[in-house]
Amino acid sequence: MNHKKIRQIFLSFFKRKKHKILNSASIVAKKDYSLMFTNAGMNIFKDFFLGKKKSQDSRIANFQKCLRITGKHNDLFEVGKDTYHHTMFEMLGNWSFGDYFKKESIKWAWELLTEVYKIDKSNIYVTIFKGNKEDKLSFDRESFKYWNKKIDDSKILLFDKKHNFWEMGTTGPCGTCTEIHVDLRNEKEKFKIPGNNLVNKKHPLVIELWNIVFIQFFRKSDGTLVKLPTFHVDTGMGFERLCMVLQKKKSTYDTDIFTDLIKYIAQHTDQIYGVTETIDLAIRIIADHMRSVVFAIYDGIIPSNNKYGYVIRKILRRIIVTYYLTLKIKKPFLFKLVKPIICYIQNSHLNKSHLKYDLSTIIYDISTMILMEEKLFLKTIKLGINKLEKIIEKLRETKCNIIDGKIRKIIYWLYDTYGLPLEISQRIIYKRIPYPMII
Ligand code: ATP
Ligand code: MG
Repeated sequence: MNHKKIRQIFLSFFKRKKHKILNSASIVAKKDYSLMFTNAGMNIFKDFFLGKKKSQDSRIANFQKCLRITGKHNDLFEVGKDTYHHTMFEMLGNWSFGDYFKKESIKWAWELLTEVYKIDKSNIYVTIFKGNKEDKLSFDRESFKYWNKKIDDSKILLFDKKHNFWEMGTTGPCGTCTEIHVDLRNEKEKFKIPGNNLVNKKHPLVIELWNIVFIQFFRKSDGTLVKLPTFHVDTGMGFERLCMVLQKKKSTYDTDIFTDLIKYIAQHTDQIYGVTETIDLAIRIIADHMRSVVFAIYDGIIPSNNKYGYVIRKILRRIIVTYYLTLKIKKPFLFKLVKPIICYIQNSHLNKSHLKYDLSTIIYDISTMILMEEKLFLKTIKLGINKLEKIIEKLRETKCNIIDGKIRKIIYWLYDTYGLPLEISQRIIYKRIPYPMII
């Protein structure tokens, strides 16, 4: 099943359950002063949960582009190292605003995953809230009851507030949640360690797929909870992870969302993906980050020195440092990756508003922007390296040990004054690639 079909099946399923289907909103959260980028499907519905606005539709299903590189949700340092976190990913969601609650949410999630997508039931685990004395909440008996109609007790796992109680902030709407996890290991591995021991343990093949939040309370400023007049459902399922499960892959990077992009990167850098771990890691970082950059530019951000533009410029520079250091690429090439990413957006998203510009114009404009950024930063790197090499030369002449406190100061000075990335100076001096990168 290709990714286009997987998305379409999700949306048609909830359409049949009388949901209004919405296209993704922008990845840039310009109207929300507490956020820079959209980091979850619920962001755009916040006012409904806060009771500030009323939704015209009590049932909605959508997919939402999310960026987790700043603030509370920052997955930047997981990316590439693991095989299921991305800086930019899409979240599929179904929403009830004062309409259905636990019974339907659980029933439909199970129906979609096991009967429509046909995920093997024996690989599914669910988690529910185990209760909390301070909040005077007992364990989520209702969710347990509905899950237990579908799945054996041994696969319903109880977790605390950290995992199974969702809050918008220190005050505001909140509630318990139930998560669906999938075990993708082979039978031998499963025999050695049962899946329920690995849920929420950061195992790359026992992963969280879908989070279903039941917004039922309001946390007051004195910390107590009161019941909301109407209850809501907020769900989020990672699209790349769903594709990984349905396409029977061990990594989201092996799904058809990424394969073309990875092929292009390997081609343009003269590398083979899947042979050496350090090379693979660099290729994954480039693929992931380039999607973030292109999606953000597509939604109106221009790399620059302030706010949104600065964050995107930093991500772009992180990619350049990665290819410069690990893949030994010294010439711009990222601009060539714009085309497959834009084609992905155009092929899979329902929103055609950007089509007032034709496809080739969009690709040309974004590629040019990225090419300029690459040229500029590669020039900065070259200049900085020249300075550093001269300094090292001088220190050697004076027989000074270059690996001491003084050189550390110089590294920071070069970064501050000439913008030479710390990672590159460190690479030249210490002869190793530092990871995670600081940039
Ligand atoms: P995890 O513990 O795996 O980081 P999470 O608890 O941060 O997940 P939620 O915030 O509940 O996840 O988001 C809902 C769903 O979105 C998750 O169940 C997962 O499938 C997906 N998801 C979350 N973060 C990422 C990410 N960085 N990349 C890809 N998918 C993600
Ligand atoms: Mg997370």
